[in-house]
Amino acid sequence: MGKSMWKVPLSDLTFGPEEKEAALRVLDSGWLTMGEHTLEFERRLGEALGTPRTLAVTNCTVALHLAYAALGVGPGDEVICPSLTFVATANAALLTGATVVLADVLGEHDLSIDPEDIARKITPKTRAIAVVHYAGYPCDMDAIRAIAAERRVAIVEDVAHGPLARWRGQALGTLGDVGCFSFFSNKNLAVGEGGAITSKDDSLHSRMRLLRSHGMTTLTLDRHKGHAFTYDVVEAGMNYRIDELRSAIGVIQLERLPEGNRRRREITERYHTQLASIAGLQLPYKDFYARGAGESAHHIMPVLLPEGVQRQAVMERMKANGIQTSVHYPPIHQFSHHGASERVRRDGLDRTDAIAPRELTLPLYPRMRDGDVDLVCEALAASLR
Ligand SMILES: *Cc1c(COP(=O)(O)O)cnc(C)c1O
Repeated sequence: MGKSMWKVPLSDLTFGPEEKEAALRVLDSGWLTMGEHTLEFERRLGEALGTPRTLAVTNCTVALHLAYAALGVGPGDEVICPSLTFVATANAALLTGATVVLADVLGEHDLSIDPEDIARKITPKTRAIAVVHYAGYPCDMDAIRAIAAERRVAIVEDVAHGPLARWRGQALGTLGDVGCFSFFSNKNLAVGEGGAITSKDDSLHSRMRLLRSHGMTTLTLDRHKGHAFTYDVVEAGMNYRIDELRSAIGVIQLERLPEGNRRRREITERYHTQLASIAGLQLPYKDFYARGAGESAHHIMPVLLPEGVQRQAVMERMKANGIQTSVHYPPIHQFSHHGASERVRRDGLDRTDAIAPRELTLPLYPRMRDGDVDLVCEALAASLR
């Protein structure tokens, strides 16, 4: 990252003097833990997403854990989630004691969860469906919401890739019961470690607010302000709070987000145009906008290598050209733990097994120049010759 060995890194921050000034203001303020900046960050994020029920937390992994916990997911319950996601989507459910049922991807054109596979894998024990808006492109929320309503199961949206992306005009994270966001340093909105949760109704919102801070009825800030002298604990909660430094940086990053997402889309379109001529290379989501179903946040730039190509060798050649690439993701069912766990169901993942080994992620970040994109495309073409 930053000043690195790479000519074109996989991702990079969009930070300016404003982030530095915001951090310094917090250091000078004498208040570091969750306080006014956090309230402001939550309010502004909520406005951008169109929901007042927005809480900032430590990271997206704990947001997912809070979501499952608040929905009452526990031992004996099943949570359906894609195998092609970051492992936290599943781990947070496993930590509640639940069983995770892994679902397949749609296909080469769309690497998100297949609604038909969700319907196939629902049982009377299913408590929640966790969907991941891969690369920031919305899942088919019409189909998924219909299934969830019919079978009376909750929807958890993992929106780590999709802040401000939309499905039929509505922000991702506000279409299910709970939405979980990540502000990790390589995400579209970056504060280092950070996250947020949105919820559909007030009772989930207040439950998660309680669980975020030990199940305590008052905050340190309330006591500091003299609004409260003591507290009760009404549930066994955790400490999943964010702090003022990150919240203050988050407010600035949120202001940059619409422009950052716009530039990411421009870069993605340049990639799609330039890579179209490489034989056998598949470009997932190439026709996303033609469907008219929403807007992506373009978090990452995935391609599928031609069948039979050794991905590792391509990554080595790209590296020799100074270009960093990555993989999203090693499927969850192939990890040592999840491939052997009795609480992970791994049936019917044929498309994931066929597609995942071909996935290669190319560099994408708002400050990438058009020339950088061209460099990556030329290097990829040469690596495949
Ligand atoms: C980054 C990411 C997470 C985890 O986010 P953290 O904030 O690092 O905990 C979860 N799910 C997906 C899809 C991610 O990309």
